[in-house]
Amino acid sequence: MSYKSDIEIAREASKRPIQEIGEKLGISSEHLLPYGHDKAKVSQDFINSVQGNKNGKLILVTAINPTPAGEGKTTTTVGLGDGLNRIGKRATVCIREASLGPNFGMKGGAAGGGYAQVVPMEDMNLHFTGDFHAITSAHSLLSAMIDNHIYWGNEQDIDVRRVVWRRVVDMNDRALRQINVSLGGVANGFPRETGYDITVASEVMAILCLARDLKDLEDRLGSMIVAYRRDKTPVFCRDIKAEGAMTVLLKDAMQPNLVQTLENNPAFVHGGPFANIAHGCNSVIATTTALKISDYVVTEAGFGADLGAEKFMNIKCRKAGLAPDCVVIVATVRAMKMNGGVAKANLGAENVEAVKKGCPNLGRHIENVKSFGVPVVVAINHFVTDTEAEIEAVKEYVAGHGAAAVLSRHWELGSEGSEPLARKVVEMAEAGNANFGPLYPDDMPLFQKIETIAKRIYRADEVLADQKIRDQLKSWEDQGYGNLPVCMAKTQYSFTTDPNRRGAPTGHSVPVREVRLSAGAGFVVVVCGEIMTMPGLPSRPAAETIRLNDAGQIEGLF
Ligand code: ADP
Ligand code: MG
Repeated sequence: MSYKSDIEIAREASKRPIQEIGEKLGISSEHLLPYGHDKAKVSQDFINSVQGNKNGKLILVTAINPTPAGEGKTTTTVGLGDGLNRIGKRATVCIREASLGPNFGMKGGAAGGGYAQVVPMEDMNLHFTGDFHAITSAHSLLSAMIDNHIYWGNEQDIDVRRVVWRRVVDMNDRALRQINVSLGGVANGFPRETGYDITVASEVMAILCLARDLKDLEDRLGSMIVAYRRDKTPVFCRDIKAEGAMTVLLKDAMQPNLVQTLENNPAFVHGGPFANIAHGCNSVIATTTALKISDYVVTEAGFGADLGAEKFMNIKCRKAGLAPDCVVIVATVRAMKMNGGVAKANLGAENVEAVKKGCPNLGRHIENVKSFGVPVVVAINHFVTDTEAEIEAVKEYVAGHGAAAVLSRHWELGSEGSEPLARKVVEMAEAGNANFGPLYPDDMPLFQKIETIAKRIYRADEVLADQKIRDQLKSWEDQGYGNLPVCMAKTQYSFTTDPNRRGAPTGHSVPVREVRLSAGAGFVVVVCGEIMTMPGLPSRPAAETIRLNDAGQIEGLF
């Protein structure tokens, strides 16, 4: 049997006008700012008007450590949203927007897959409503104003060797990682070394995703550290007086985008920070707004639960005052097999032993998520190659870990396939057993916060850090940043800092290479291992085969 590609299915969607989708959530058309016929931003007035409403239930979708086999978090998020609507719950999906860089590098969109997708998927994966362009522009404005400030006399006494604000572009372009600027003579300023990151790595992106409203956005932008003086004191964005104009550029980008699933159910697609040097969740404003107008909100966090769910709980929920009612951990038979040592080429053949061998990775994620005080359901995202015996092996293992695993066939069947998962999630969420608490209190010293995550989530024996790093953390504590949460930047492929160690390893240590302060976003980034903030393209980028066909449709994107 052959299956249609994601884009073929998406093209056949019978979309409803966006006003109809808004009506389902009680958003009248004067509060929808349409971008074409099938996308709209939601007005701030509307958002303000629903603040008194009761919150719906919040469901987080996370996963085991990703493998090249693919887990399908977004697909499951969308499928669960449709499944909940199918059983009569008013459910809204909240996911991230896509960055252009990866689209033209490795194939793969961010709108879900099969019969669990958000549409219009081409738009969502390309320019969408222009939010990322606005973020690039706001970021670039500050970059320009910093060099301009230095050029016109450097009143703030910026040490040109210590400008930490880099430039951004939404593209995978390794040539820009390290560059020299202001070359060419006196009229062009003072030459210095800097570089580019991809837009989704910008602190502006992280801030847009954590800000409660435009006022909060402006405050946080002002608090970003852009450079240091010769005496090592920080120069803030507000010292350069850029935050007002940046907020003007971000005014529309701050409003959540409403689109629909293939089954015409509402989806907010808004924001998309990196999941390593930032927290990897869609915007707080989209999630909090959706909670005010839905019975259920289903949202996703990037990477596996050791990174994504941990940051969702310790950063996003802490800052936004949110508490999940149930967490869905996505696992696949294929990924279990890979964790059990099977090579990608052999994933098609039945191998119950390998499935069993790979399950401890899932088991540890179940334990970890439960330690936040939230009920867990495992969703087995069904692939058509899975066998009965393999599925049973996962179910049995999960039952042995005090949780339930539900087979979900949303990719193949849409909401018909995810109905059992939706029913289970409702049962768990409505039992009201969640007693959410973050892993550490605000006032714990920064180094201890890192140790808490390393020991309790990664199950490491110790955290290794030079005196220089410990001193840096101490000095931030002295400057009043000690109450911030930490944002771990480590490989997503393993509980350890070694991407090749699959399963549930113990007896490892977590070396901290570097710490960075994101004073505007409000977290301390802890870099463990190589972290790329400007990806490169592969030897055969997807862009080589992307084109418009004679009918004007996009080919080669997915
Ligand atoms: P994640 O959010 O975990 O990165 P996605 O949901 O974006 O993963 O899925 C990644 C890719 O895997 C998509 O192209 C999607 O079509 C595919 N995929 C997801 N679930 C299934 C499935 N059950 N069967 C086949 N392909 C799937
Ligand atoms: Mg995803």
